[in-house]
Amino acid sequence: MVDADTRRQELERRAAEWASCERCALAGSRTQVVVGSGEPDADLMFVGEAPGFHEDKQGIPFVGQAGRLLETLLEEIGLSREQVYIANVLKCRPPGNRDPLPAEIESCQGYLYDQIQLIRPRVICTLGNFATKLLSGSPLGITRVRGRAQEHTFGAVTVQLFPIYHPAAALYTPAMLDMLRSDFAALPALLAGGRAAAEAAPQPAPQAAPMSAVAAPASEPELDDAQLTFQF
Ligand code: URA
Repeated sequence: MVDADTRRQELERRAAEWASCERCALAGSRTQVVVGSGEPDADLMFVGEAPGFHEDKQGIPFVGQAGRLLETLLEEIGLSREQVYIANVLKCRPPGNRDPLPAEIESCQGYLYDQIQLIRPRVICTLGNFATKLLSGSPLGITRVRGRAQEHTFGAVTVQLFPIYHPAAALYTPAMLDMLRSDFAALPALLAGGRAAAEAAPQPAPQAAPMSAVAAPASEPELDDAQLTFQF
C-alpha cells in the first residue's frame, strides 16, 4: 500500500509531465492542459466531460457556471470542492466546446485511469454521458443509469461508480436540477457505507435552487440522451 503523501507527490509529478501532452490535435488549440483539482487523497472523485472556455483559461476544471452549481450541490451535502477531486475525460478543451471525439477519448483516457490509481477514491461520480459511458464500459446513457451505484474495478482500485446528470445540463432545466440534487443526497451514505445504504437513503424535498431560473417541476420528465447535449 503506497501512502497518501507518495501518491500525492506522484500525481503532481505526472501532472507536470502531462502539461506538455501532444497525443491529439487538441494540443494545437488549447490554452493549457486541465489535469484536475482538489484533494489528491479524496474518497469522492467527480469526472466531467472536458474543459470549457473558462477552464481552458484558468487551468482548473469546473470553474464556470456548471462549476458553481457543482460547488453549491457539494455544500448542500456538507462538502467543499477542496475535499473532493475533480477531473474530466478530456484534459484539453475541444474547440467551441464540441463533443469529445472517440479518438480524443482514446488518446486521453490513460490519464484518467492513472488519476484513479493514484487518488484511489471510494466513489466516482460520473457527470453526464461521456464520463459515464467511458468508466462504466457500457453504452447505456445517463438517463437510464443515473442515481444507481455500480461496482467497478480499475486496476487495483474498486469503486462505487455513481452516474449523475452533468451540472451544465441542470442549469436551465429545473426538473433535472431536482434529480441531480436528489442524487447528490445519496452520496454521504454511499461514501459511508456502500450501495445498499445509499439506495435506502431518504430523498430530500426539492429546495429552492441556487441558480436563477427555477420553478418546481410537475413530474419527472422522460429525457432522451440526445437532449443532454449542452454548451458550457
Ligand atoms: N464541464 C465539464 O465537463 N468539465 C469542466 O471542467 C467544465 C465544464
